[in-house]
Amino acid sequence: MKLALINATVFPATGEDVIEAGALVIDSATISWVGHTDDVPQVDTTVDCAGKTILPGFVDAHAHLIYDDVSDPYTIELSRPLERAAVDAAVNAKRLLDLGFTSIRDVGTRGNIAVTMRDAISAGHLPGPRVKASKQIISVWGGLGDMHPTHIFKREQYAAALTEIISGPWGARDAVRQHVKDGVDWVKCEASGTGFNPLCPADRDTMSFEELQALCDEATEKGRPVACHAESRNSIIKAAKAGVTTIEHAIYLDDEGIQAVLDAGIAICPTLGLYTAFAKKGAEFGIPAEIVAAHNVTHEKHAKAIRRAYDAGITLIAGSDSGLSVFPQGGGLEEVCTYVELLELTPAQAMLTMTRDAASVVGFDDAGTLEAGRRADVVIVDGDPLDDIRTLTRPGSIEAVLQGGSLAAGVLPGA
Ligand SMILES: [Zn+2]
Repeated sequence: MKLALINATVFPATGEDVIEAGALVIDSATISWVGHTDDVPQVDTTVDCAGKTILPGFVDAHAHLIYDDVSDPYTIELSRPLERAAVDAAVNAKRLLDLGFTSIRDVGTRGNIAVTMRDAISAGHLPGPRVKASKQIISVWGGLGDMHPTHIFKREQYAAALTEIISGPWGARDAVRQHVKDGVDWVKCEASGTGFNPLCPADRDTMSFEELQALCDEATEKGRPVACHAESRNSIIKAAKAGVTTIEHAIYLDDEGIQAVLDAGIAICPTLGLYTAFAKKGAEFGIPAEIVAAHNVTHEKHAKAIRRAYDAGITLIAGSDSGLSVFPQGGGLEEVCTYVELLELTPAQAMLTMTRDAASVVGFDDAGTLEAGRRADVVIVDGDPLDDIRTLTRPGSIEAVLQGGSLAAGVLPGA
């Protein structure tokens, strides 16, 4: 069965070029042809997509499927049982698909929910994006993941935590071995604190270089890339030198950090939309005043540093870190708007971070662009986000989502 989508603005995401009056032919699960509507080959069904834009399925490179209207570590870990977190993940997977996300990387879960979701979705038991999964965020005592005050937990791990706390290089290796045994695609760790944990702020270094290096060595040996939460200045440099594959957040990125990331040839996932939301909307969502104030101080500097990183040639990948009350699931759409509004990227440059570049860095090698031979993960948007990026966040603009050539969400134009 061959389906042609015609008369659309097509963004193949192979570069910044757009095909006006473009068309796409899908042959069962695969894209078989991309070009101008005038040249479309013979097909079985044709859908007129006038006024629409056709893009590759979106990729959220920094997702947490279990985050659902949570405000802090307490609501993530202590207020909800693991069973509820699994239900939240299933609900969120469908939400993300409805918004055009056909692939995600989950960078921190409880239990083994992300791997379970990955397998359930790929088996067709649940609707959702394809998932590259990690397990808990590997952390250290006094680090990002040691979230509860010492009078509640003193060097004791909460059984169903979002994080796993290790000590020393061998502890790091042990955790990686366990995560690989349990089926992860990626290993997630942290090298700095976060505004999210008042006990370990964003500018504090946490995991030692020895621990990071052992973690990366063990993961690399087992063919698993490492995503590292690194907000503080030194953590970015240490993580890059230790061998991680992506730096998450990079708030206090400076010139030495940019050089370290360039030398390592790795990517940054800046999650700018989340920090902008904390700064602009945190107070109305009950985020403590000191966290809002801290983000107001950092988020514009952060944006400037990320722009310098982009200009230096560092690959940016769009990830949302969404699911918090202040920044709901699907924040990846907001994320790319932030790249246009704060980084002054063109809409096409911003879209590449959520399609081609995110897919390639995360490891969805068959997706991310609209080219003959690629998997037919396709989003049809009403309007033109390459002209006005905010089209993406307009309610109802994500008109149809095809996953592997099948309609997964919305309706085809004219149907
Ligand atoms: Zn995160």
